Amino acid sequence: MRRTPALIVGGGPAGTAAAIALARAGDPPRLIERTTEPHEVVCGAFLGWDALAALRRLDLDPARLGARPIHRLRLVADVGQVETRLPRAAAGLSRRCLDEALIDAARAAGATVERGRSVRAAEPSRRAVRLDDGNEILADALFLATGKHELRGAVRPRDTSRDPVGLRTALSPSPRLDRELEGVIELHLFDGGYAGLLLQEDGCANLCLSVARRRIKRAGGIPNLIRRLSDELPALKARLAEADPVGWSAVSGVPYGWWARGTEPGLFRLGDQGAVIASLAGDGIAIALESGLQAAAMREAGAEAFQHRLGERAAFPLLVAEGLRRCAEHRLPRHVLMRLVQLFPPLPRLAARLTRIAP
Ligand SMILES: Cc1cc2nc3c(=O)[nH]c(=O)nc-3n(C[C@H](O)[C@H](O)[C@H](O)COP(=O)(O)OP(=O)(O)OC[C@H]3O[C@@H](n4cnc5c(N)ncnc54)[C@H](O)[C@@H]3O)c2cc1C
Repeated sequence: MRRTPALIVGGGPAGTAAAIALARAGDPPRLIERTTEPHEVVCGAFLGWDALAALRRLDLDPARLGARPIHRLRLVADVGQVETRLPRAAAGLSRRCLDEALIDAARAAGATVERGRSVRAAEPSRRAVRLDDGNEILADALFLATGKHELRGAVRPRDTSRDPVGLRTALSPSPRLDRELEGVIELHLFDGGYAGLLLQEDGCANLCLSVARRRIKRAGGIPNLIRRLSDELPALKARLAEADPVGWSAVSGVPYGWWARGTEPGLFRLGDQGAVIASLAGDGIAIALESGLQAAAMREAGAEAFQHRLGERAAFPLLVAEGLRRCAEHRLPRHVLMRLVQLFPPLPRLAARLTRIAP
């Protein structure tokens, strides 16, 4: 069987960034993406300045896609709220819009994008994948970019005792939400997780939660959980009073804080398949884009060298983000954290810098 020189599995930010960069370097890859059309993703839709810089390197301008500028961070908890300026300009853009623009750019750069096909399993030692129609593809270089979704044969370790669940919906446009969220990323902290809110290009507010599975179980489902959180956090209740949150998407088993310590020859693990930062830090998209760009640049150096480099770059931001996540999720450390931030408002700016893959 003829081998495909470069095969990418997954057309999210990581896979498409690699596809664009490889195609531009004269090595147009084949990219397999299971969705057939624009779709929403469980994500907070926050683009940090490092994600914006990576998008510029890919010749994509989020402002032209309608991204809403963000300059401030508002932290809200049961002990009050604090607002502070972000170190640099960020933006809010739905993943529906971002991912579609990246797929279009990959096609335009010369990549062969095959949508509506799903990879069922991988055999990394042979750099082989099996598709849902039973066909097999062998590759010289296999770029694994299935993000939050595990691929049989290449699964990441998972700590089921902590098992956070990601939830996402959109709140319909409202003049009040527009006024109060203009230029802001708002994070509501609570026991077991947080809720993030920001405005996106279509005027809706993206509402995304990362929450411990036990909290959803204890509440008896998502609608009950939202009611309980509203009772705990009056500021969140006020936001939700503007629009009833319905139509939730969910993803579970996100291994926050994990990164690949190694890989097999020819297997490049990109994005969430290479390093998973706590979502609270809002840097997963930047890591995905950077890893795609870097894998393409290090294609000749080999997968092991690439994976080592990615681990080196991501380890520190991942560890800081994990520490912050654990503090924010527990009452006492959260109260200490909020008190410190109230006393020293520049602290979140420092935390935001320390959790970026690129300064
Ligand atoms: C609750 C939550 C909130 C978050 N909020 C933010 C935020 O605000 N800002 C931020 O920067 N990051 C955020 N993140 C992290 C961010 O979503 C991820 O880091 C990022 O999406 C990773 O990109 P990726 O390309 O690796 O994977 P993904 O975005 O997951 O893309 C993977 C792609 O692969 C495709 N695919 C999957 N399996 C297969 C298969 N078998 N065959 C073919 N195709 C397949 C999928 O359809 C998808 O298109 C958040 C994460 C969570 C869980």
